[in-house]
Amino acid sequence: MPPAPSSWTWKASILVSDPRNDGIAGEWFRPGSSAAITAQLAVRDEYGLIVDENGHELARDWLTDLNVSARIGSVARRITFRDNSVFETTDNDGVDAMLARAGSKTGSWVHRAEAFHPRLIVFMAVGVLLVVAIYKWALPALVELAVAVTPPVVPQIMSVATLKSLDRAMFHESKLADEAKKRLSDGFADLVEHSPPGTANYTLNFRGGGLLGPNALALPDGTLVITDELVDMASGDTELLLGVLGHEIGHVEHEHSLRQLYRAAGVAGLIMIIGGDVGSGMEDILVEGGGLLSLSFSRNAEAEADRHSVELMARAGYDPVAIARFFELIEKKLGDKGRTSMLSTHPGTPERRQAVLDHAGSLATAKDKPGADQVR
Ligand SMILES: [Zn+2]
Repeated sequence: MPPAPSSWTWKASILVSDPRNDGIAGEWFRPGSSAAITAQLAVRDEYGLIVDENGHELARDWLTDLNVSARIGSVARRITFRDNSVFETTDNDGVDAMLARAGSKTGSWVHRAEAFHPRLIVFMAVGVLLVVAIYKWALPALVELAVAVTPPVVPQIMSVATLKSLDRAMFHESKLADEAKKRLSDGFADLVEHSPPGTANYTLNFRGGGLLGPNALALPDGTLVITDELVDMASGDTELLLGVLGHEIGHVEHEHSLRQLYRAAGVAGLIMIIGGDVGSGMEDILVEGGGLLSLSFSRNAEAEADRHSVELMARAGYDPVAIARFFELIEKKLGDKGRTSMLSTHPGTPERRQAVLDHAGSLATAKDKPGADQVR
């Protein structure tokens, strides 16, 4: 037979569950007074009341009329009565439990306690606005400044490191026939000749793409790589490939890699300001040379590079819209599903093909009109 519970245990359990003993310990201040009076806050039916150590009632209000301050860390909660007397307690859990209990009786009170934090809302709104403003205005300006003051040796070092790690991890030696290499190199020389001199020192490199598959890429110092797979895909259409190289030259001349890198660094800085920590992925991008590859360009950068290809190809005497054939080709051969790296780093091909044709069209019209050069 189990031992009968002693009367003491029985009484204690009644005491704990008795709603009359749910008081929260704290201090009470008369209206306008700074003298603390040790007291308890208790809930009776739909009232909140303050009782002193001797059980005397000091204040009483409908729960719906009490104003409870928000929970902020371990800061003491202030519960203000209508007569402006204030009860202060550090028992945050007790207050929350009481709010939850009272919620079943007076939902509005809980709602008010949770929703009414004017100072906190203003504080957070200012913080959010500040971050948005930095992102929208300060960051682009800082990126431009950083690009402008970056000495040429920085993109050179980044490019050498990136090509080295790509050669180690991904690329194979090119198996292209010398004839195909020569055709492309000659065309590439034409393009570079028509690029503003001194902006970059261009080299064209041939590689087996490995995991990268059919692709072309430009490193920020003007080192370009074209993969055998891309050359094969073009099935002899050299101008198409030159159009792609013109696009890559556009990335170099507009310094998209550097911009993207500085932008990522700036965003990482912002995240650090807000959250106090930068993910390890971001660290890889900033620290590792190979991280350059994991940054895809913005749609604006891609469109700018596409227009560059159109203009450069025209200047060099090639078909300005050859790159449109490239878009057509990957739409047809690969399906624009973003499955290959080429597509994930060069998204939205149907729209871009149309934009290329439009741009070439507007250039042709501008050329026909006398004096149009001044307008453009
Ligand atoms: Zn691109």
